[in-house]
Amino acid sequence: MVKKVDCECGVSLVGENDDEIFDKVKEHAGAVHGMEVTREQALAMAKPA
Ligand SMILES: [Zn+2]
Repeated sequence: MVKKVDCECGVSLVGENDDEIFDKVKEHAGAVHGMEVTREQALAMAKPA
């Protein structure tokens, strides 16, 4: 199932599955926001796209 996360900074992240959306959220949060995100947190933010 494709999932999407709309970040508070306006960026939309899309992943083909849980692993992919977690990777993208983790990378984005680390690179742009200097935050560490757990898999649970990333998946909690994800919505069906
Ligand atoms: Zn962001």
